Amino acid sequence: MSLGTPERPLRVAIVGAGPSGMYAADALFKSGLTVIVDAFDRLPTPYGLLRGGVAPDHQRMKSVGAYYDRVAGHEKFSFFGNVTIGQDVSLDELRQHYDAIILSYGAETDRSLGIEGEYLPGSYAATEFVGWYNGHPDYQGRTFDLSHKAAVIIGQGNVAVDVTRILAKTIHELSTSDITENALSTLEHSKIEDIYLIGRRGPVQAAFTQLEIEELGKLDDCDVVVNPDDLILNEASELELSQSAKAQKNYAVLKEFSERKLTGNPKRIHVVFFRTPMSIYGKDKAESITFGVNRLEGDAGSQKAVLTDERDVLSAGLIFRSVGYRGCPLPGAPFDDKKCIVPNDKGQVLTTDGTPVSGLFVTGWIKRGPSGVLGTNKGDSAETVATLLAQILTLTPCPTPDSTMLRKRLEKLSIVSFDDWKKIDDHEKQQGSLVGKPREKLRFVHDMLSVIRPNQEDT
Ligand code: NAP
Repeated sequence: MSLGTPERPLRVAIVGAGPSGMYAADALFKSGLTVIVDAFDRLPTPYGLLRGGVAPDHQRMKSVGAYYDRVAGHEKFSFFGNVTIGQDVSLDELRQHYDAIILSYGAETDRSLGIEGEYLPGSYAATEFVGWYNGHPDYQGRTFDLSHKAAVIIGQGNVAVDVTRILAKTIHELSTSDITENALSTLEHSKIEDIYLIGRRGPVQAAFTQLEIEELGKLDDCDVVVNPDDLILNEASELELSQSAKAQKNYAVLKEFSERKLTGNPKRIHVVFFRTPMSIYGKDKAESITFGVNRLEGDAGSQKAVLTDERDVLSAGLIFRSVGYRGCPLPGAPFDDKKCIVPNDKGQVLTTDGTPVSGLFVTGWIKRGPSGVLGTNKGDSAETVATLLAQILTLTPCPTPDSTMLRKRLEKLSIVSFDDWKKIDDHEKQQGSLVGKPREKLRFVHDMLSVIRPNQEDT
């Protein structure tokens, strides 16, 4: 019997119900075939970075959630939340019940700097801070000491800009976001006055985008400082600038910032270029950070930061490294340790020696690395689904095309369905409405489970 027909629907398991997983489900449903999609997520909440990564004060970006809701509302879509693949269920067990598996579990951890003092208290991954203020259950045990005057953010991507902005905004500015109440009350007592957003290369190479950097110049109680000398470009950067609309937009914003005068606002954001972090010093916790001053070398488009003999020391008790997310291996799936992705050809998972792994596909950050915005995953997942569907006639049908047994087994583990998630969603929105926020997030899995099953003792 052919896969993808009403008599024998194609059965696909999606591992990770974040944006790339939801776009993959969407593409499968739009294929015209009969497809059953079961999306597994280790959290009781779907949509990954839409909830745990997108900045709480960027609510407009969250409107894409309505699109994912429509996908999840498809009659052949099921959500299996609070289930960790590789722990609660192995890939081999999934293979028993699904004809194809799409890995879309993202890049869960952070890249490190590899410098002395990096792990001193006071020096953290930006991803931890983002997870913490966004209510991600993994990070709710973290504490961040905001009693210092200076904070340093290393890296100049949009995550670094998000962290900078959250540290710089007033409580009033944040109060209508969906930042957790816990984070808001910590930020309320913040003593941070100077926030340094530091890049190793120049203004033309900065990874942030115009809207994000521009926003830093529009905050209530914060000045923004750019040294005009940092905007002097070498020949290769001039060429890069002339060839990149993105860089031109960023540069125009930075130039305008560099012409501003301090207005006496209580906080300042310093956007600093040409600095490589070399070591973090502190007896028991971070006290200062040493930077090497760089110049750029190389051809336009591939200039590298090269250290000069000059060094800069900044006193700072709070340091965030924001130099990119990093993907992790999943038990039973191939993994490229260097690129930190699942090796693949257009979404077809390959072993490390390049052999296709039958029935196993990959999409999103764990396919291509941690780049792009939520919508970038749409095309990426469409490519993966096209690769999968091109093999529909040769896929090996799974031996047990039914998930009743699996579901039964998982029910003992407090599996969360999409209707259960809606209860969490409604509860959070209702709690948020009491304080003028879009939602007040539940920060702990056990609280989420209590909302779903109020009369049951869940762990
Ligand atoms: P990213 O955009 O890749 O930026 C990483 C930054 O870290 C770059 O400035 C990079 O500089 C720097 N870096 C890397 N290694 C370094 C090292 N060893 N020392 C010093 N600096 C180092 O990563 P991201 O900010 O984590 O963002 C990930 C993706 O999510 C991006 O595509 C981003 O646009 C997206 N995102 C979007 C939004 C939004 O749309 N508002 C918000 C958050 C995230 P080099 O260029 O010199 O390597």
